[in-house]
Amino acid sequence: MATVSLSEIKKSFGAVDVIHGVSVDIAQGEFVALVGPSGCGKSTLLRMIAGLEDPSAGQISIAGNVVNDRLPKDRQIAMVFQSYALYPHMTVRENMSFALELEKRPKAEIASAVAEASAILGLDEYLDRRPKALSGGQRQRVAMGRAIVRNPEVFLFDEPLSNLDAKLRTVMRKEVKLLHQRLKTTSIYVTHDQTEAMTMADRIVVMNAGRIEQIGTPLELYNAPENLFVAGFIGAPQMNLISGTALVTQHGFAMQFGETVLSLPSGVALRNEQEIVLGIRPEHLRIDPDGELLSKVGVVEPMGSETHLTCDLNGTEISLVEAADINAQPGTVVRLTFDRDKAHVFDNASQARVVRGGN
Ligand code: ADP
Ligand code: MG
Repeated sequence: MATVSLSEIKKSFGAVDVIHGVSVDIAQGEFVALVGPSGCGKSTLLRMIAGLEDPSAGQISIAGNVVNDRLPKDRQIAMVFQSYALYPHMTVRENMSFALELEKRPKAEIASAVAEASAILGLDEYLDRRPKALSGGQRQRVAMGRAIVRNPEVFLFDEPLSNLDAKLRTVMRKEVKLLHQRLKTTSIYVTHDQTEAMTMADRIVVMNAGRIEQIGTPLELYNAPENLFVAGFIGAPQMNLISGTALVTQHGFAMQFGETVLSLPSGVALRNEQEIVLGIRPEHLRIDPDGELLSKVGVVEPMGSETHLTCDLNGTEISLVEAADINAQPGTVVRLTFDRDKAHVFDNASQARVVRGGN
């Protein structure tokens, strides 16, 4: 277990700047997810931590030591990739022991490391099989086994579950989390999937176009997104983001969009005609005969435990999470209300949150 610190890391490929100065401190034993859309620089950042790519500027420290000039093998890290990268001609046992054999470790030590990893991952009965005789989940477990036997200070995961089907992904998500609870090895987990980041990580680093948008625990990001990017990225269904114009009225502040004027929570300090975006989570909106918003029901999706609705609000598509037994007919016009004290207000120009709603 070790700390990992990134200080002002930049990376350019030729003339293209990909990472624009990223700093983050990861505590010993912490599980941190790097999440963001495809192409935002997650793999590049992870590969720099691993030593597979050199930063153009900035410092990388592991366990308090600057490692910029250290080879990957001298960084005490182990990496697990999306493509399991198993050797097809080797058995599970050989795949797991290979790195240790290369390091010429004593036979007994290798055998016990493999036995321990195999027991943790439930691979005992597959040790003599080749990868092609394994399921996708089992192959991914072998890939993790290969990382575990090296007993690294830090695990680096790059989208390790992306090749699995949805159901297996959910199972493996829990396995990786259990593994971390058991080994408590500092882990950095790259994913484009906000659900994986939310469910697995102690802290999440949200990245966008080579920059950090926000760092926080899953619930900090969900309840208090600092900007429109994080508001829209974290949470499924997505937060509703309704653009409008601020109005200063006799009673306080309001927002106008189309024909609709909504009063805003008190404590707001906005300029008249400021372009703003109101952010409302789908679970904070509901059908209510006395509601102030008129909208047309589009799609009704029963999930069993709840029902998701997509409605049209003055041309903006919005999502609602309703009770499972809600009676809503596609094509009908309904009135909606929302929890005003839980809504956020963002400034459209800076994209920053200017009013935080309650949880
Ligand atoms: P992510 O993992 O978040 O999907 P990457 O880190 O793979 O993103 O890529 C970030 C950006 O850097 C992308 O625009 C990608 O095209 C670019 N990039 C990555 N590797 C190279 C490379 N070796 N040469 C040039 N551009 C690269
Ligand atoms: Mg990637």
